[in-house]
Amino acid sequence: MTSSTVTSKCLCGQISVSVPQAALNRTECVGLCYCKNCRQSSGGLASYNLYLPEKDVTIQGQPKIYEDKNTDSGTKIQRAFCGNCGSPIYGKNPGFVGLMAVRLGMFDELPKPGMALYCKRRPDWVKSVDGMQENEIMPTMTEDFKVWLRTIGVSI
Ligand SMILES: [Zn+2]
Ligand SMILES: [Zn+2]
Repeated sequence: MTSSTVTSKCLCGQISVSVPQAALNRTECVGLCYCKNCRQSSGGLASYNLYLPEKDVTIQGQPKIYEDKNTDSGTKIQRAFCGNCGSPIYGKNPGFVGLMAVRLGMFDELPKPGMALYCKRRPDWVKSVDGMQENEIMPTMTEDFKVWLRTIGVSI
């Protein structure tokens, strides 16, 4: 990899994740998901994700994988977390091969999200972020969505 990478660790330090700095600088790669399962697994209001090609992510250590079958969208999501401290590490949707959602909470740099998923489940008292593209649920595989995947570097 020629570009510089940023590395962070889970709370206990057993798992580290490296991503390209360039991805962190791109608002369109950063998103929030307010679905109930992201909320439950994160313990927060939403999952906070960096969407990028799996090949651009380097993980050291062995996260545990929870196969989440009971999702709002009906797709099975692999939720990776540290088996020691419980920190969320990433999510993968087998419907979008090659796409990874790295959980951004572990990083020092907290970039502004460019989009949000499942806004219908967002509490009324949470303000939306300026300029953020909002989806009521999970976008379907429309042409727009394919364009977005290509923009972030995932070929489908
Ligand atoms: Zn840990
Ligand atoms: Zn979600």
